[in-house]
Amino acid sequence: MTTENLAASLFREEVLALSAYKVADARGLVKLDAMENPYSWPEAIKTEWLNCLRDSPINRYPDPEAKQLTATLKRQNQITGDVALLLGNGSDEIIQMLLMALPPSASVLAPVPCFVMYKQISDCLGLNYIPVPLLADSFELDLPIMLAAIARYQPSLIFIAYPNNPTGNLFSEQAIITLLETSKGLVVIDEAYAPFAQASFMDRLADYPNLLVMRTVSKLGLAGLRLGYLAGPSDIIRQLDKIRLPYNINCLTQLSVVFALSEQSLFDQQTATICAERQRLFDQLNNFADIHAYPSAANFILFKTADGQADRLFELIKQHGVLIKNLNPQSGLLKNCLRVTVGTVEENNAFLSALGNALAR
Ligand SMILES: *Cc1c(COP(=O)(O)O)cnc(C)c1O
Repeated sequence: MTTENLAASLFREEVLALSAYKVADARGLVKLDAMENPYSWPEAIKTEWLNCLRDSPINRYPDPEAKQLTATLKRQNQITGDVALLLGNGSDEIIQMLLMALPPSASVLAPVPCFVMYKQISDCLGLNYIPVPLLADSFELDLPIMLAAIARYQPSLIFIAYPNNPTGNLFSEQAIITLLETSKGLVVIDEAYAPFAQASFMDRLADYPNLLVMRTVSKLGLAGLRLGYLAGPSDIIRQLDKIRLPYNINCLTQLSVVFALSEQSLFDQQTATICAERQRLFDQLNNFADIHAYPSAANFILFKTADGQADRLFELIKQHGVLIKNLNPQSGLLKNCLRVTVGTVEENNAFLSALGNALAR
C-alpha cells in the first residue's frame, strides 16, 4: 500500500476533501496581503519588552488560565458581570473550539463572502455550512434571506464578521440585532478589525444570552504572538473552555500581550495613522478609471477592477514587487476583486504606483 493510500484509508472523508489554506510566499515583496500592522516599536519600548521577557520561566508550562492576561483583557474591554473570556492561539483557534463543541449534524451559517476559516473548519468537522450571499454592491446583509435560512436550518451558530473581511464594511446594526433576537443558536460577532472601526457589540453582551464577541490582537499589531479571545456568558464559555488545550497560550505570548497592552497610546497612534492612510488610499484608488474601491471600516480596502482584469493586474502588481490578495478566484461577489492592506505611506505609494503601471500596460 502506498502512503497516499494509507492516508486515504485512515483519514475522514472530510479531511481528504479539504484543500489546504495556502499562505502566499511574500519574500522580497512589499507585503500588503494579510492585514498586518506595518509599524514596529520604538527602540526604548522594545528594550522594555525584552526586559520583561528576560526572566520568564520557559522551563515551566505557562499559566493554563493565563490569569494576568485575562484580567488585563477584561479591564481593557471593560468586561464586567457574568461575562467570561475564552483565550485562543489566535481567533482561528477559537473558531475551531466553537465548531468542535457542536454536534455532527449542526448547521453553521455565515453571510458570504466572509472570513474563509468559518467554512474551512466547518467542512473539516463535517458540519453543515450554510453560506448566505450578501447583497451585491452594498455588501449588506440580505436580511429576508438570512431569516429564511435561520428558519429552515436552525443554525447552532452564526458567524458575523464586524467589520466584514474581505468586504471591509460594517453590516447594519439593526439587522444584526434582528438576527440575535431571531436565532435560537449562538451568534458570534467577529471583531477582528475593531481597532479600526468605531463600532462594537462588546457593550451589548448583557442584552443577548446568545451573543458572543470575538477579538484578536493580530490586526492591532501583534499577529506574530497569536492571541484571540471570545467574550460571552460564563455558562457558555465554561463549556467551551473544556475543549481548549490546557497550555494553548504560551508564556512569551502571555507576557508580551500584557506588556503591549500597557502601551495603548502607541497602538492608538499607529491605528490613527493607518485610518488616515486608508482614506488616502481609498481616494487614490477611486481616482483610477476602471477601479472601484469600496468603503472600509477595517485596515484593508476591497476594490473591483474592469471585467476580466483582476488576475492580470494582481500579477503585474506582484512583478512590481507588491503582494496584495487576489479574490477573483473565489468568484461570486468577489469576481474581479482585489484586496489591499493599508501599509505605511511608502508601501501604499509603492502599491499605487505598481497599480498605475499595471493599468497603463
Ligand atoms: C484575520 C481574521 C481572523 C483571524 O485572526 P487571528 O487571531 O490572527 O487568528 C479572524 N476573523 C477575521 C474576520 C479575520 O479577518
